[in-house]
Amino acid sequence: MESGCIFCKIIAGEIPAEKVYEDDEILAFRDIQPAAPTHVLLIPKAHIPTVDDLEAGQDELIGRILRTAAVVARQEGLEAGYRLVTNCGRGAGQEVFHLHVHLLGGRPFGWPPG
Ligand code: 5GP
Ligand code: ZN
Repeated sequence: MESGCIFCKIIAGEIPAEKVYEDDEILAFRDIQPAAPTHVLLIPKAHIPTVDDLEAGQDELIGRILRTAAVVARQEGLEAGYRLVTNCGRGAGQEVFHLHVHLLGGRPFGWPPG
C-alpha cells in the first residue's frame, strides 16, 4: 500500500471499482474512462510503479497477470481478439504509477497504436 496511489486505494477498498477478477495477488477492474467496449485494468496487489521497477522474483506474477488477462478476455466474450497494453513512463502515456495491463476489446484496433 503506497499512500497517494489511486490503485492501492482501490485494492484497499477505499475507492470503489467494478471488479471482474480478484485473487491474493491480482485485481482486475473496469477502467473508469473506457477506451473500448471492454476496458479492464489488471494490476498486481503489490505496489510496483512501472515495468522498469520489476524484479526477477516477480516474473511469475507478471506471467499470471497475462494469463489472467486471457481468462478475463474469455469471460468478456472477446473471441474476435483483444489488445493488451502497458504504458511505461510519462512519454508513453502512463498516468497512474502502479503497474497495470490494459485489456481492450470489442472493437477493431489499428496498428501502429497512437
Ligand atoms: P495509464 O495512462 O497510466 O496507462 O492508465 C491509467 C488508466 O487508469 C486510465 O485508462 C484511466 O482511465 C484509469 N483510471 C484512473 N483513475 C481511475 C479510477 O479511479 N478508477 C478506475 N476504474 N480507473 C481509473
Ligand atoms: Zn499502488
